[in-house]
Amino acid sequence: MGGSTVFLYHDDFMKYQFGAKHPFQPVRERMTLDTLRSLGVFDDDNRVIVPEPVDAETLQTVHLAGYIERVRTMSQRRGLLDYGDTPAGPGLYEGALAAVGATVDAARGIARGEFEHAFNPAGGLHHAHPARASGFCVFNDIAVAVRVLQREFGIGRVAVIDIDAHHGDGTQEIFYDEDVLTISLHRYGGGFFPGTGEADEIGEMEGRGRNINVPLPGGTDDNLFLHAYRSIAVPALRAYRPEMIIQQFGVDGHYRDPLADMGYTTRGYAEAARLTHDLAHELCDGKHLVVGGGGYGLDATRRAWSIMYCTISEASHVDGGLITGLHDREAPLSDRATAEEVMDIIEEVKQRSLPLVESVIRYA
Ligand SMILES: [Zn+2]
Ligand SMILES: [Zn+2]
Repeated sequence: MGGSTVFLYHDDFMKYQFGAKHPFQPVRERMTLDTLRSLGVFDDDNRVIVPEPVDAETLQTVHLAGYIERVRTMSQRRGLLDYGDTPAGPGLYEGALAAVGATVDAARGIARGEFEHAFNPAGGLHHAHPARASGFCVFNDIAVAVRVLQREFGIGRVAVIDIDAHHGDGTQEIFYDEDVLTISLHRYGGGFFPGTGEADEIGEMEGRGRNINVPLPGGTDDNLFLHAYRSIAVPALRAYRPEMIIQQFGVDGHYRDPLADMGYTTRGYAEAARLTHDLAHELCDGKHLVVGGGGYGLDATRRAWSIMYCTISEASHVDGGLITGLHDREAPLSDRATAEEVMDIIEEVKQRSLPLVESVIRYA
């Protein structure tokens, strides 16, 4: 069964929503599935699977029982789960269980060798903390999947690489003192949400050197983003030698996204997918789990995720012209981040973090 890729989809994903006027709209996940179907991507080796909702015991490996219960009751009677961004309402709890369950099923399937690559568009809820929702994220599916890999499969070396425009603060907090490599490339500064993710947040104890932040200025474009990816994420992953790579593929860094004001295009996302996919084959038998995340321009999100999926599944039977047709047709108007500014940040993170990742390995 090796060599295959799966797309996880459950109708309950559509229940993970915060209202018609909220920026987070789960329909983008169905739009991505429809796009991939219309391309003819799916066949025997490349299929859609329906995940199970996560069970309470598995969810409690990351989240406190009292918090889980609060989400369940709040989603019945409505109320705010955080300071205003993340309101609860009917169905939210079921939607959140489905979103986490899909990442967990994907992690188990890859660990068992049932398939090599998987994409859960409802996952990537990286702002969720053990006892608190934040930034449209209720439960941290990435962290729960890491716990499943550790406990059920004895997989100790998991790497999480997060390319969402926002810092993966929940994931960082959960693994800050553990030997789980977490890398986040995100917009930072000027009060941009969530406000964490500086280069000097490097982890503690067992996690020292295992948390890498690449804080980028608003307007960073594909070239600078990919330069950071190649200079920091790629060598860090090679040094760490993970047994599985989980990639948070939030696409709110797209230049047309209404929230983040970054300058990435579908071509930058395709390259980030290709680099990570190829590294997974080089380092860990292709074990590459991709989850969603931000993405508030529905059409750009649908296109970027579909292109990423075709890239990791190497869907050679799909008409290349159709995939080309999904790419952005125009270039972003301008990139305001200067190359020197980003180069300085990359140099600082490289000097600080890469020797640490390498040295901890040497003495381990
Ligand atoms: Zn985001
Ligand atoms: Zn592959």
